[in-house]
Amino acid sequence: MTVRGRFAPSPSGRMHLGNLLAALLAWLDVRSQGGVMVLRIEDLDPQRCSLDKAAQLVEDLQWLGLDWDEGGLEPEYCQSRRWDHYEAAFRRLEELELIYPCYCTRAERLAASAPHASDGAVVYSGRCAHLTAQQRKDLEAAGRRPAFRVRVPREEITIEDGHMGSYTQQLDRDCGDFIVRRSDRVWAYQLAVVVDDALMGVSHVVRGCDLLSSSPAQAWLHRILGYEPPQFYHLPLLVDAQGRRLSKRDRDLDMGVLRETYTPQELVGWLGWLAGLQDTPKSATPDQLISRFHWSKVPKTSIVVGST
Ligand code: GLU
Ligand code: ZN
Repeated sequence: MTVRGRFAPSPSGRMHLGNLLAALLAWLDVRSQGGVMVLRIEDLDPQRCSLDKAAQLVEDLQWLGLDWDEGGLEPEYCQSRRWDHYEAAFRRLEELELIYPCYCTRAERLAASAPHASDGAVVYSGRCAHLTAQQRKDLEAAGRRPAFRVRVPREEITIEDGHMGSYTQQLDRDCGDFIVRRSDRVWAYQLAVVVDDALMGVSHVVRGCDLLSSSPAQAWLHRILGYEPPQFYHLPLLVDAQGRRLSKRDRDLDMGVLRETYTPQELVGWLGWLAGLQDTPKSATPDQLISRFHWSKVPKTSIVVGST
């Protein structure tokens, strides 16, 4: 079967070194197996995303020397233009009686949540799962607009990550009922990513470790909707010399600044070195890294980013 991989950035700002590493490794994973690369624009949030930023993102990837076989700015590959697909999946979940409205404000949500033991994320308590029809009516009358959650079962889900190995969550305890549609009617990432990966035939998902904890819920949602979950590969986080996670706040690692500092080959060579594919950060093109790519070389623990 042909491998189909994707890169799915959000055009909410300029890409960051971590996004570039994910893009490069997703690309190498596909190209080293003669697969098909899809570029999907995850521009669900109209407040934060724009077509200009998406165009910039596409141009930044091209500058780096990455290419793709499907997608980009075409409407069928932009989440903001795919609402019908999310609507259909949502209706399917409604038919399965897995959807309920949640009227909690942000403060109520936090108060009614249990912190997740391992990563500090909050797990929704299910506060609105059992509201009566009258209670819902009263809340609506008071002007509350609900978000919609999907009810997760008490079930252990294990994903076999192609890079990180086995990862298990008990959905009700470690994830909780999660939002699939926000109160402003914007579709949630968790629903959109599953629907899109399924409809775009994505077989391999390569992305940062920050999304590992979302993967069991996504695998579960794939199955509930009648799809086969993709094979996941999660990459270690990039950290600074003090072990702190690099963030969007580290402006010097933002694509705007990186492009002023490095040539595309210097940047790709540096990323290839961080990913364990070459012994030094010497310049390289993405093509030159294809034959050197193997998952066994890629670190599994945090990658320290110093200067080159
Ligand atoms: N759009 C997400 C991001 O840019 C990535 C989603 C994914 O790879 O599943 O962080
Ligand atoms: Zn609620």
